[in-house]
Amino acid sequence: APAGSPLIKVEKARKAFGGLVAVNDVSFEVRAGQIVGLIGPNGAGKSTTFNLITGIASLTGGSVFYQGQPLTGDSPRQIARHGIARTFQHAKILPDMSVLENVALGAHLRGSAGVFRSFFRLERDEEATLLAEAAYQLDRVGLGQYRDRPAGDLALGQIRILEIARALAADPTVLLLDEPAAGLRHGEKQELSVLLRKLHEEGVGVLLVEHDMGFVMGLVDHLVVLDFGTLIADGNPADVRKHPAVIAAYLGG
Ligand code: ADP
Ligand code: MG
Repeated sequence: APAGSPLIKVEKARKAFGGLVAVNDVSFEVRAGQIVGLIGPNGAGKSTTFNLITGIASLTGGSVFYQGQPLTGDSPRQIARHGIARTFQHAKILPDMSVLENVALGAHLRGSAGVFRSFFRLERDEEATLLAEAAYQLDRVGLGQYRDRPAGDLALGQIRILEIARALAADPTVLLLDEPAAGLRHGEKQELSVLLRKLHEEGVGVLLVEHDMGFVMGLVDHLVVLDFGTLIADGNPADVRKHPAVIAAYLGG
């Protein structure tokens, strides 16, 4: 996609859980060549917004578009194949499988085979292709040296990067990351920043959910702020951080 063209457009997206409106008519865009931060206090609706974009939750109202096409009714798998990949707030690695195999599960998502568990029944040559793709992605994110170790042996910062490699294995144009920096030590956060900048330079669109404003400030081109499901600010980081509603949401929350 040409730089500046909309990759993801969220238009008046709404999600209600019974009487609770978790996402309240939220609109924003992620454009090609952008790193966008989606921030807000706990419970603001950030993960639910990701679930709406990736088809894991169904919209109560509004629409989500990918490169101009509505995603309404598409399954998470179809959405992944369009080019939207994500990580989850709570790590979903298989600790006893190798780092390489964990990433290969992501490469498998892009393939034509049926359900996820059929990974274990792949033809040998198909499996070799997936493992080669996974090895490429591990080198890309700097985890190549750990490929044969059980994923459960990795430090938290490395697990977060492993999850990014797994998402990249589905060959996305946009990567949605749900709090990849949460709980990381300072040095790990810096390594993560360096990786996200590298992916950005390689042309991958990034939508980054983060609780901690400090981490996103130096990293993103554009910030979207949610509070109690409502979009309270949308703009460049320097302006958004001065916004009275943003200050109130963070100091009050
Ligand atoms: P954030 O990621 O910003 O912390 P979430 O999107 O996880 O916020 O949650 C937004 C609100 O929606 C919260 O009040 C949460 O309790 C509620 N919520 C999220 N998922 C569900 C669900 N599956 N069922 C009911 N309520 C939910
Ligand atoms: Mg969340």
